[in-house]
Amino acid sequence: MSHSISRSNSEKLFQKAKTYFPGGVNSPVRAFKSVDGNPLFIKRGDGYKIWDEDGNEFIDFCASWGPLILGHNHPAIYRKVVEALQNGTSFGAPTALENELAELILSRNPFIDKIRFVSSGTEAVMSALRLARGYTGRNKVVKFEGCYHGHTDAMLVKAGSGLVTFGESSSAGVPAAFVNETLVLPLNDEAALRSCFQQHGFDIACAIIEPIPANNGLLLQGGEFLKTLRSVCSEYGALLFFDEVISGFRVSFNGAAAYYGITPDIITYGKIIGGGLPVGAYGAREEIMSCVSPDGPVYQAGTLSGNPVAMAAGIAQLTVCAEEGFYQDQEKRTKAFVENVNTYAKEKGYDFEFVTIGSIFWFNFDGKKNITRADQINPDMSKFKQLHAFLLNNGVYIGPSGYEVGFISSVHNPEILKKAAEVIKQGLDHVMA
Ligand code: PLP
Repeated sequence: MSHSISRSNSEKLFQKAKTYFPGGVNSPVRAFKSVDGNPLFIKRGDGYKIWDEDGNEFIDFCASWGPLILGHNHPAIYRKVVEALQNGTSFGAPTALENELAELILSRNPFIDKIRFVSSGTEAVMSALRLARGYTGRNKVVKFEGCYHGHTDAMLVKAGSGLVTFGESSSAGVPAAFVNETLVLPLNDEAALRSCFQQHGFDIACAIIEPIPANNGLLLQGGEFLKTLRSVCSEYGALLFFDEVISGFRVSFNGAAAYYGITPDIITYGKIIGGGLPVGAYGAREEIMSCVSPDGPVYQAGTLSGNPVAMAAGIAQLTVCAEEGFYQDQEKRTKAFVENVNTYAKEKGYDFEFVTIGSIFWFNFDGKKNITRADQINPDMSKFKQLHAFLLNNGVYIGPSGYEVGFISSVHNPEILKKAAEVIKQGLDHVMA
């Protein structure tokens, strides 16, 4: 169990990649910096498995950071994408496939009347923030500490020390003026929320939240705080903005809005909606969406928006997700997996538990239960790092950061989940005992 896998091809590719890309990667978390390692270069995926360039095989729980809810190389997605590809890759003109994906979503979704497809989650958030400001005629935006909304300027903000602070950017290159309008609040803190709205409420265009915060641990809010947020937004005429880039089509077809039974005013989607190809989207009720160009004055456009190959992948994936019982089955398998590991950890007296919702899980090494705020997470990730290395060496691939969550796909059958749980239990023995 203490063996190390061969990594020589990945190492060579990484050395080369470092001469091409900053940090050797095209998105920072891939660089394995949080686990003090070097990335594996992935060659192929099929079902729940991925293989790296050295021929090592893994059970994959990263799932491309969430989009692959049907696993890798799903036959329905493959067929639909190839069919679309045979007709060409892009036209810059409308295609029937855009209507088909919109119909699939809107006919089932009671929260939005219209949708606009873009090419990433970041782009969806950026566009929807502009829409919220354009619709309300207000500038300020409330965001919550620990929620990630992509890398748009106004959202790269961390909280200061006070209950309510004007944002200070956590990235170089963002002018102070861009984040001056972003107010950062702690999650699950009703008093801070009310006091912020009392002070600024009628200047606030929207409050944006990951209703299931899953980018900084898994900070489950429960319905109560979200309901309070809904009512406070309504009281001040601010829009409630659910960023469902992770939770959309993940915890239910209609995301966290349906899961908690709360109606937001604006929603963004990404990840699963594109079946593994680059798609994001934002939607709202008719009155709000009528502000978007060319119907209204809020400008937003995209050369590759609604790309036919990406639409085809999304249609194939969401068609499977819309089948009766899909989400119940996802949750059932995930629960069994999580309980298997959690029961073991408890018996052994380890300060560890999986936090879970739907088919998402997070490695919580802190022993603190019911963590709902970013500042409650133990910043010491040493145990996670050791576990991560152990899992890689024993055929289980998880995202290379202790703040990231894992995803269960429809192809993770009960047998394979049992097998993965056994490896994780051995890993816990290795790092906790
Ligand atoms: N919003 C949320 C909640 C996300 O989790 C992410 C990405 O992880 C984004 C926005 C940004 O999406 P993308 O990486 O597609 O730009």
